[in-house]
Amino acid sequence: MINSPLSLGLLGYPLDHSLSPLLHTTALRSLNIPGEYRLFPAQDENILQDYFQQMRRGLIHGLNITIPWKITAIQLLDQVSDTAMKIGAVNTVYIEKGQLIGENTDVQGFHEEIAEIFGSPDQISNNKALILGAGGAARASAWSLGKMGWEVTIAARRLAQAQELTQNYSSLHGKFLAIELAQNQLAEQSPNLIINATPVGMAPENEENPWPEELALPKDAVVFDLIYNPPETNLLATARANSHRAINGTGMLVSQAAAAFQLWTGIQPPRHIMAEELNNALSKIQRSSA
Ligand code: NAP
Repeated sequence: MINSPLSLGLLGYPLDHSLSPLLHTTALRSLNIPGEYRLFPAQDENILQDYFQQMRRGLIHGLNITIPWKITAIQLLDQVSDTAMKIGAVNTVYIEKGQLIGENTDVQGFHEEIAEIFGSPDQISNNKALILGAGGAARASAWSLGKMGWEVTIAARRLAQAQELTQNYSSLHGKFLAIELAQNQLAEQSPNLIINATPVGMAPENEENPWPEELALPKDAVVFDLIYNPPETNLLATARANSHRAINGTGMLVSQAAAAFQLWTGIQPPRHIMAEELNNALSKIQRSSA
């Protein structure tokens, strides 16, 4: 039972369009937990440190971390989970016995979504994924798939970025390959899962598509676009029109938020209510920008 009001929030800069306040406020209200989730803009590292001090003093009880501090935060915390350390990014900070601990809940969010898509992922062998992009979300996705023994190809516009990722993960169970995000290289791949981990197609650039227009999507591949705004990207619309299973990033967004909320409160929040509120908000955003 939580009686005193919780102070939670999102640390980063800029924070204008975040949907995290909506998700966490919905969770607090649904569970009748007193408290609030606020935006904590941090333009420089001193401000970041100041928020961490407030957390150590018990004035803030839980933080999400976003751009540009996901990497820097690692050096400033007392402990970081093995997963967050290996991925090189923290998106959640919680406190345990006075220590600030960093975690990466994108991994959990991604893993849960894969389990939802494929049933029990640990039972599925010989799976091949093609990840477009090699930034933070790609690293979390590749880590999760690699741990499950998947064969993972990373396609990035800067080959060196993809190579760095595959080298870092070489100790994992899965097989990793780095290629350029270029039509001739993509054409040689035959994955059963394609993941868009680039921001290409994200609002307001809704017409953009990370997949080359002239290239057919690999037969029977599931297309998972991590973008949630718009809920149907150009890539997903193309996939659906060609009878591919198409999944957007809303489920992963709710799952990573739920995992953070549980670290802060010890309570599982109601995901279906959070998902409903998120979908309503996204529909409203779409209507207002139409
Ligand atoms: P990030 O760290 O900035 O990485 C973005 C990656 O995309 C980089 O490899 C970047 O390459 C590449 N990229 C950017 N613009 C590109 C373009 N025009 N063509 C080809 N590649 C391009 O971003 P992130 O945090 O990984 O986020 C990526 C996407 O995932 C965003 O849309 C984000 O909203 C989404 N996401 C969703 C969830 C969820 O819960 N659903 C969670 C995390 C992220 P360069 O380094 O060369 O720019």
